[in-house]
Amino acid sequence: MEVQAYAKLNLSLDILGKRPDGYHELRMVMQSISLADTLTLTEHGGEGLRVRANLHFLPTGERNLAAAAALRFWEARGQEPEDLDIAIEKRIPVCAGMAGGSSDAAAVLRALNARAGEPFSPLELAKIGERVGSDVPYCVLGGTALAEGRGEILTPLPPLPACWVVVCKPDFPVSTPELFAQADRVKLRCRPDTRGLLAALEAGDLGGVARRMYNVFEDVMPPRLHARVAEIKNELIQRGALGACMSGSGPTAFGLFDREGAAEEARAALRERCRDTFLCRTV
Ligand code: ATP
Repeated sequence: MEVQAYAKLNLSLDILGKRPDGYHELRMVMQSISLADTLTLTEHGGEGLRVRANLHFLPTGERNLAAAAALRFWEARGQEPEDLDIAIEKRIPVCAGMAGGSSDAAAVLRALNARAGEPFSPLELAKIGERVGSDVPYCVLGGTALAEGRGEILTPLPPLPACWVVVCKPDFPVSTPELFAQADRVKLRCRPDTRGLLAALEAGDLGGVARRMYNVFEDVMPPRLHARVAEIKNELIQRGALGACMSGSGPTAFGLFDREGAAEEARAALRERCRDTFLCRTV
């Protein structure tokens, strides 16, 4: 069985506060895009659960989120783990703010559910995904959605009007825990206009959405890294993007385009700087 695991982008990301349980209260508008990993699930003879990927540094055992998802699925069904091989062809950059691992986990849940004759509804499947990671429920449902709480409280939204998306992941690492810690230390000066963004989605106004995209992590990044993300965003805007934003805890930045030609030119220009640059559609 072959399944696609789509990357997600944050059209917005806001931190509302810190909760007593230590997690942050978030409000995010999420969008899936056509950049995807491909997972192939194959039954095999008597060796339990195996996971392998075309990237050697990814965990192969239960620490791989795809394997964790399979185990949670069988647990929810009250059954023993099966003899299953999961081969992951990674295209979504790792640790990039695009929920690649969560998306692989969600794809496994959808595939196993389909294979078992859909015993779980999409919402039940999302609930099982919550035990694998906070972004997994969104990845199970996909599309355009508002994610609140830790990211697991989902409200489907009118789809983002069809457009081209240029995604660029610069070549430096970011630490998500450090960004959250820094967000706790400083007063956030800029916040996304989430209500305005939702109204623009409701109105099918692509430009209105693009102009309101914002991610509070952009402002709490170390200045040197912030400058590199800002450079990419500027290049996207100068080449015709209606708006540009960073996704998740970064460092990936992306722009929304209403013209394919401009998007293609932006992709080619940014590709000179960053190997991990992609031209995508929304899903
Ligand atoms: P998010 O946007 O949800 O914060 P991310 O894009 O920043 O996620 P991922 O690419 O999902 O980060 O990977 C985060 C960590 O998860 C990495 O340390 C990686 O080793 C681990 N991981 C486990 N399974 C996978 C998988 N199937 N694909 C990618 N990473 C995985």
